[in-house]
Amino acid sequence: RQREFAALRDLPAVTRDGVAVQLMLNCGLHIDLPHLHATGADGIGLYRTEIPFMVRASYPEVAAQQESYAKVLDAAGDRPVVFRTLDVGGDKTLPYFPDLSEENPALGWRAIRIGLDRPAMLRKQLRAMLRAAAGRELRLMFPMVAEVAELDRARRVLDLELARLRADGGTPPARLLVGVMVEVPSLLFQLPALLPRVDFLSVGSNDLLQYLFACDRGNPILNNRYDVLSPPMLRLLRDLVRACDAAGVPLSLCGEMASRPLDAMALVGLGFRTLSLAPPAFGEVKGMLRSLELRRVAAYLDRLLDGSDHSLRPKLRAYARDHGV
Ligand code: PEP
Ligand code: MG
Repeated sequence: RQREFAALRDLPAVTRDGVAVQLMLNCGLHIDLPHLHATGADGIGLYRTEIPFMVRASYPEVAAQQESYAKVLDAAGDRPVVFRTLDVGGDKTLPYFPDLSEENPALGWRAIRIGLDRPAMLRKQLRAMLRAAAGRELRLMFPMVAEVAELDRARRVLDLELARLRADGGTPPARLLVGVMVEVPSLLFQLPALLPRVDFLSVGSNDLLQYLFACDRGNPILNNRYDVLSPPMLRLLRDLVRACDAAGVPLSLCGEMASRPLDAMALVGLGFRTLSLAPPAFGEVKGMLRSLELRRVAAYLDRLLDGSDHSLRPKLRAYARDHGV
């Protein structure tokens, strides 16, 4: 099967009824970069920048960060790269950060909350990204944003760094796109304010499921207790697709569900046209897409979303089997 999937590398991710889906890569280390070529990905949909921060004894200086981000952009060439700013805290700890021993780390001091409270760290990271992207396109994305006011504050930090770059005579990026991860449900109730402010959105379904169902994603006792293929999660995603389509804001999903073929089938059925996947998932997901009559799945799914099922997984699995997906 691996060989069969490898043969798909250069074929487009297009459904049987002719709908093209962009398949992007999730990664976070330089050793992952060869996957760009091996998978035939359309770009990097999520570059998790925190991994090098977690393995070092001290905060990496701007020059080291800049070099690291430039290498990623070099490897991607013409393909887009979405850099996510530092997403630490919660289960991702830094050796040079105090041990906070928070009672609820997933609800604690993490990601953009740290960035806004420690603006020097965020500024250094943004400075490194801006410099790395000199004359090229830069897409950056803020994690765990819970309210539009946080995005506004993060943007002001970015503006300070842009002004500083210009004052220093540096070359700014040729194009700068700013996006937000949708992983805290509160953001879904601020779409009228959020959508005009962003260039793109990307759903972090791992955290979104955790916060939607109030269910710790790392607690083994609760493993698989709630499903992303449940009516509430899928309705939420459908409504988000509709709002983004109406506002002309590009939307992708970069959580683990995009890497599972059945879940990916549901996502494209709901209207997602960009998915960001883990490297091993490309063959299976592309194979699924190429066997899919998208319009039929969309119609089938739509009827299920008002139901009371715990999970639509059994029905979707049966549908996929019956339709040769
Ligand atoms: C997510 O939450 O779905 C996501 C992509 O981010 P991470 O898994 O790094 O928290
Ligand atoms: Mg997340």
